[in-house]
Amino acid sequence: MKEQDMDNEDIGTRELRINPIVPTESVLIATARSMRPQKAEEAAPRDTRHHVERCPFCRGNEDKTPPEITRAPKEGDWAIRIVENLYPVLGDDRQNPNMIFGLQQAINGYGRHEVIVDHSQHGIAIHEMSQSHLSLLFQTYQSRMQELYDSDKRLKYVLVFKNFGPAAGASMAHTHSQIIATPVIPQNVQDEVEHSKKYYEKHHHCIFCTLVDEALTYEATIYDRDSGKVIRKIDVGQYVVERGEHFIAIKPFASRYEWEVHILPLVHNSDFIKATAEELDDFANVFKRTMQRLDAVIGGAQYNYFLHTVPLDQQYDDCQSSYHWHLEICPRTSIPSGFELGSGLFVNTVSPEAAAVQLSNVVLDEEV
Ligand code: AMP
Ligand code: ZN
Ligand code: ZN
Repeated sequence: MKEQDMDNEDIGTRELRINPIVPTESVLIATARSMRPQKAEEAAPRDTRHHVERCPFCRGNEDKTPPEITRAPKEGDWAIRIVENLYPVLGDDRQNPNMIFGLQQAINGYGRHEVIVDHSQHGIAIHEMSQSHLSLLFQTYQSRMQELYDSDKRLKYVLVFKNFGPAAGASMAHTHSQIIATPVIPQNVQDEVEHSKKYYEKHHHCIFCTLVDEALTYEATIYDRDSGKVIRKIDVGQYVVERGEHFIAIKPFASRYEWEVHILPLVHNSDFIKATAEELDDFANVFKRTMQRLDAVIGGAQYNYFLHTVPLDQQYDDCQSSYHWHLEICPRTSIPSGFELGSGLFVNTVSPEAAAVQLSNVVLDEEV
């Protein structure tokens, strides 16, 4: 690069942004091309076949999975199927007692690991599924979560998540999500629950509700104290990617991933399981439209999503007002490097403000 080019190069945004929910976490937004410390993920061609002879999740191959736990609808051809995982990461109790030797402490890998076959069609992407199908998928998540909590008091958290595409860790091409029920509350959930409770104790308001309010109504210009130069203008709705009657999709200000989007209920609710059928229908609508936007902008998105909801244990009864359930969608467009592993600091090379504009500018089919 010539010296002059280097001088002219826009250094873009270079900021450490604090996660407002969990202030002990921060991300580095570094958008100048020359600073890119990560390698981009290779785009993987999507397997769009409707049916694959040897796929254990395809219709007609039901005998290639461990026993079915449930299906929806209950009668006729299934649209969604939950089965036991053939290679569970957590399972039944072992006979050996918990092992403790000096600093080596371990508890049994007790829990549940199940696969949800999201759709009978092998290669259908989430944004191609109908709103009614997605609504049924969320109802299926809800009822299985409740059943698992009811089945065993030792299960402290039921995490529902999806891996889509090899860059997101998926080993099976057929569209599926998973449930892992653990005997401990995962640290990420614990952190959110505890920090939001502290915020509530101080401000008497849910931090997630505040976030939604700010996204919808906040307008500000931030000036540099010394020069008086405008550093940033925050516009109404700048971070809003999609909005329905009951839900909103927001591009987080401190996004860890370039195209990360969170979907939250507009009205306070701590517990996903308590969302009504009508609300889930709107959730399906906002989710589908958000996934359409992501697909249009990044094309063939490989992503993880996961549900964060209040743990269903008496111990968390006092978090009903401070915690707010949500879905985090994390498209995987870059490979974390040693810097991320060593520092715990995610590097995001796309400005969340620019990403939000690109996503909300997508014209969806019915809007034409
Ligand atoms: P992923 O690796 O994220 O694509 O998730 C696929 C999951 O399906 C893994 O947890 C596997 O253990 C599980 N799995 C693979 N083959 C089967 C099968 N035939 N029946 C049930 N689960 C399976
Ligand atoms: Zn299949
Ligand atoms: Zn709230």
